[in-house]
Amino acid sequence: MAQSTETTDWVSRFADEVIEESERRAPGKPVVVASGLSPSGPIHLGNLREVMTPHLVADEIRRRGHQVRHLISWDDYDRYRKVPAGVAGVDESWAEHIGKPLTSVPAPKGSAHPNWAEHFKAAMVEALAELGVEFDGISQTAQYTSGAYREQILHAMRHRGDIDAILDQYRTKKSPAAQAKKSQKPVDEAELEAAEGSGAAAEDDGSSGSAGYFPYKPYCGDCEKDLTTVTAYDDDTTELTYTCTACGFTETVRLSEFDRGKLVWKVDWPMRWAYEGVIFEPSGVDHSSPGSSFQVGGQIVGIFGGEQPIGPMYAFVGISGMAKMSSSRGGVPTPGDALKIMEPQLLRWLYARRRPNQSFKIAFDQEIQRLYDEWDKLDAKVADGTALPADVAAHARAVGTAAGELPRTPRPLPYRTLASVADITAGHEDQALRILSDLDPANPLGSLDEARPRYDRAEAWINTHVPADQRTIVREEPDAELLKSLDEQARGSLRLLLDGLDAHWSLDGLTHLVYGVPKVQAGFSADATPKELPPEIKGDQRKFFALLYHLLVGRDTGPRLPTLLLAVGQERVRTLLGD
Ligand SMILES: [Zn+2]
Repeated sequence: MAQSTETTDWVSRFADEVIEESERRAPGKPVVVASGLSPSGPIHLGNLREVMTPHLVADEIRRRGHQVRHLISWDDYDRYRKVPAGVAGVDESWAEHIGKPLTSVPAPKGSAHPNWAEHFKAAMVEALAELGVEFDGISQTAQYTSGAYREQILHAMRHRGDIDAILDQYRTKKSPAAQAKKSQKPVDEAELEAAEGSGAAAEDDGSSGSAGYFPYKPYCGDCEKDLTTVTAYDDDTTELTYTCTACGFTETVRLSEFDRGKLVWKVDWPMRWAYEGVIFEPSGVDHSSPGSSFQVGGQIVGIFGGEQPIGPMYAFVGISGMAKMSSSRGGVPTPGDALKIMEPQLLRWLYARRRPNQSFKIAFDQEIQRLYDEWDKLDAKVADGTALPADVAAHARAVGTAAGELPRTPRPLPYRTLASVADITAGHEDQALRILSDLDPANPLGSLDEARPRYDRAEAWINTHVPADQRTIVREEPDAELLKSLDEQARGSLRLLLDGLDAHWSLDGLTHLVYGVPKVQAGFSADATPKELPPEIKGDQRKFFALLYHLLVGRDTGPRLPTLLLAVGQERVRTLLGD
């Protein structure tokens, strides 16, 4: 069992508050925290915060020895609102299903799953398992169609006047100007998807027809769509009549035995807070503004005899470097996409180290290399006991859960080095192993597996997120023309490098050598520190490095030179440098 972190980071502070509140509301019962996800398409990486925030708090509570249920409500009984762009196996014909529950829409062609919701849920479940997130999944389709909420639905219908009155306070506050402003705000599709978060934000809060207000909507008995209007309801018999505006179907059912419909979102959510006894459920900024589902829910939940959960607002999580992928993939990076290029520890850390109200970006571009450097530095500080308490806490939450440590890479070599090696070796594993062993010849790798899974993540990043014009292609033949045109000084620098290769063939050795050559040429010791050197040395070093890049890869820049030299191999380096 992992130890509780003693420090008070944001997770710890929420855990204190949630435990205390749970003791007050439901003494002796497991603490309940919740997340909601709508499998209306690929689940956006930005929505992972909806799960990670309660997960981290639940995990801290478990570390302290309490029982916790982390519910993930799959909002799979929500209506299918639109056909997402760029999803493989889906075409415009899916538009005919708009208005049906997500579980009644066919899965994309070729899917192994029985319906739309299950298809997209499966990818998320897989990612959550890899991230070490323990949860109880609750299908809202299963809940509604089994009649689990029947009493709550009848109760809401009896109190529809009260509900209508609460909603009405906010309806009048929605000025047309404010509405217009919101819709004019330029947001891309991906951001919009993330903003919608859990529960169908676009869904209305119930219909006020000539028969009055009803917080319940049946799915049509003929076409299955939710384009229905309740035209009559009798509280005593629970007889409900609706008509479908899509197909014209009409029927009268007895709500006390009818299970094909749902409460509207703004009533559904607080009903479930009360039903499950939720103590903690954060929500996105869109759900926290005045008149939002969270605020209105806080008033409606009392009708169901419950209380509003502790519900911090979380800021959006941005993505950097997905532009290329966006155009081909409908603009939806998923948690699974992130886990292809980074280990779960790194992804967990990004969420653990920032308070929910702080926004941050998940990097798919070059920034991921810097992020990994930062993570490795923290890892080393934690190991030698010099990290700050809050950083130690974030690190502990990243590397494991109350159930134990997540599997880690046995030899976590620098990500940027692994990426360079994968870049240069282009899938040749024997070459990659040779180079990685040369990094530290005193302590060579027994097999590439020791560097996995980090190596595989770095390789996937190089192959899927680094544009072709930034990839490294080592020259096949020496650049004879350039070699011939070199002046005395350039030739001299290459000579110094070539003569030192044998003795310096390791990452540290080559680093010392490539920086030392210009110093030696200028008459200083290779060990001279910047203070002992004239400023011109910097320019000499830049010139020397550019020459090496040109001779090795035919460009001005490339991976760090020591890594590149190791990757190219001593024999080929000698050939390309005209030895
Ligand atoms: Zn219909």
